[in-house]
Amino acid sequence: MRTLVHAPAASLDHHPPQGHPEHAGRLEAVLRAVSAVGIEPRTEFPSASRAALARVHIPALIDQVFAASPQEGEAALDADTWMSPGSLKAALAAAGAGMAGVDAVMAGEAEAVFVAARPPGHHAEPDRARGFCLFNTVAIAAAHALAQHGLARVAVVDIDVHHGNGTQAWAENEPACLFASIHQGWIYPGTGAAHETGRHGNIINLPMQAGTAGPAWRRAVETAILPRLAGFAPDVLLVSAGFDAHRDDPLAGLALSDDDYAWAGAALAQAARAHAHSRLVCVLEGGYDCAALERSAGAFLRAVQSA
Ligand SMILES: [Zn+2]
Repeated sequence: MRTLVHAPAASLDHHPPQGHPEHAGRLEAVLRAVSAVGIEPRTEFPSASRAALARVHIPALIDQVFAASPQEGEAALDADTWMSPGSLKAALAAAGAGMAGVDAVMAGEAEAVFVAARPPGHHAEPDRARGFCLFNTVAIAAAHALAQHGLARVAVVDIDVHHGNGTQAWAENEPACLFASIHQGWIYPGTGAAHETGRHGNIINLPMQAGTAGPAWRRAVETAILPRLAGFAPDVLLVSAGFDAHRDDPLAGLALSDDDYAWAGAALAQAARAHAHSRLVCVLEGGYDCAALERSAGAFLRAVQSA
């Protein structure tokens, strides 16, 4: 697929406290992978507007994040979700880069856009910032696709090792979005059981046992996600691309390899080509072992590009 990378410069200015697993070095690792693949990223994007955020988040949450933004030092939104002076701008640029990704595939400038931004977003709920996430970048991009481009259907596939609770909380009230998450069950944030299918039936959850490796993970994607994507036929496919299901990741216990991420990139790109008008927007979420993140993100991106 003709592939662009959206890597907002502001994403490097978000600094949780020393020792926090979600640090700027992660994005530097992803950017090394992007450079090795030979793609020159776009780095400047309009900040997401309040109206764009409000398609997903309630006004009180938006106000809370803006008000918490510190002039200096660090401010905590909860025990693991922090803001530094650059964080608000980083979160707004991440959301802006995601929406610009949708705009690029809709305009036919590219078939795939990889949004290499931080902070991550998929744990941010409509009314609550949490799990390292301030605003829900992928949900904001999905809502933008529906509202701004007038699309009838969007799909979000979340392959981060943690359940995409925030995206699900939005999609539960948005039947035009099919949301599918494959994750390690019974770890943070504790949601994502298989019976959580949503009152509109548009939610798919595939909790995996600790230790699950590539073959079983791929089988679950093939049998429970790809056929639903084919049937739903979204106008654009978005992916919450977390790389923390890698066996080297320190925060969780699945056992994917670099090759599994190449497989995932190819499978999702082929699904986008066959069922989503060749429109794919992937948004970086987790991945906390920088060496594994660099290799897996590179493998994923290369596979998307050659699909
Ligand atoms: Zn994660």
